[in-house]
Amino acid sequence: MRRLADMQAEILDRMPRMEVVEASLDDAVGSVLAEDVVAPENLPGFENAAMDGFAVVASDLNRPSVELDIVDDVAAGSLPSATVTSSTAARIMTGAPIPPGADAVVPVEATEMISDRRVRILESATSGDHVRPVGGSVRVGSLVFEAGLRLRPPHVSVLASMGALPGVRRRPIVAMMSTGDELVPPSTKTLEPGAIRDSNRTLLRGLLTDLGIEVRDYGIVGDAPGSFEKALADATKGADVVVTSGGVSMGAYDVVKITLRERGTVDFLKIAMQPGKPLGFGTVDDVPFFGLPGNPVSVFVSFEQFMRPALLAAMGAERVFRDRVPGVLDDGITTNPEKDVFVRVATTRGADGRWHARSSGGQSSNVLSALAFADALAVIPVGVGRVEPGGTVDLEMIHWPEARTREEALGDR
Ligand code: AMP
Ligand code: MG
Repeated sequence: MRRLADMQAEILDRMPRMEVVEASLDDAVGSVLAEDVVAPENLPGFENAAMDGFAVVASDLNRPSVELDIVDDVAAGSLPSATVTSSTAARIMTGAPIPPGADAVVPVEATEMISDRRVRILESATSGDHVRPVGGSVRVGSLVFEAGLRLRPPHVSVLASMGALPGVRRRPIVAMMSTGDELVPPSTKTLEPGAIRDSNRTLLRGLLTDLGIEVRDYGIVGDAPGSFEKALADATKGADVVVTSGGVSMGAYDVVKITLRERGTVDFLKIAMQPGKPLGFGTVDDVPFFGLPGNPVSVFVSFEQFMRPALLAAMGAERVFRDRVPGVLDDGITTNPEKDVFVRVATTRGADGRWHARSSGGQSSNVLSALAFADALAVIPVGVGRVEPGGTVDLEMIHWPEARTREEALGDR
């Protein structure tokens, strides 16, 4: 049996990187920067007001209730036409350029109009108050983002504000198919004896689209080598990665293993992990190939441990593994000490401020419902074998949900 970490490292080593393309801002969220981003200009590019109010000379206001003549009115997008001097002020709007001579803005709330042309300032000011300095957000020439960063909406908005269009790596297209003669489409109303609905493709589609990855669906192929090979040949033509579910373990009809073992480009392995022991990995027609197990929970855990990091690496990401946080395992559990075991757990934040985890249901690899109720995988590493109730475990968070109701967040407002 192979150790999980060894297999993860091998997959990351062998996964090719996608080519670099120019980012389109409309489509950049979820893509990974292929190059460092150095600020082409200062942000803000000019000194401007942080509040609606009056641009003043701060040293004018060292006594209460100073009256000033209004010499200008500067809106955002317009340019000052007068210099502010001692005993004068310019009305100014948020984002408008600070007029020459002025060094502070007094918010409108701290003023009183005497006439159209004269204002009373009720508070003192210090040079720089409510003024956004040039380069205060980003300084020209500074390193803003490093290559390998997966872009979220705020990153893309920083790029937009600088007019920067850096290279990103293309996101891979993934072809998928389910093997198994027992499978019928999820839309099937009445099941024939022995038939089950194919849930793995629905699961994989969701996991892939969550990563911003385009999916090509080759449907259900049976357990006959002919139909599998035909679908596989088509799949490798139009995709950057191919994934199958089922047919990789020890069964007499395990079509993926039977068909591909002969070709010699895919290894069929036993990984010291639970769930997800069997795995096929290699290439088919030079396209990276993942043969995931058939059990739905194994599909999920194998995807999480192997495919997700591999796809993120192909996209150029630096950080490819999910966050782990320490938590208390309230239930306690006994596991196979020879395997890295991933326990499906539901998490809550306890009164002690720590994360608490409880088994989210049956831990057999076919119990999809326990996966659906899980927020995290509790990791029980090789060599441990037993965690007592109240023991500490690493929780690999599989999502950070919207967890608070209106009442919990806002009270009875
Ligand atoms: P296999 O590895 O092909 O022997 O499949 C292992 C188990 O997973 C069997 O109980 C299959 O019926 C089940 N299974 C395989 N493929 C799927 C699928 N696409 N959806 C739901 N269950 C599946
Ligand atoms: Mg099968």
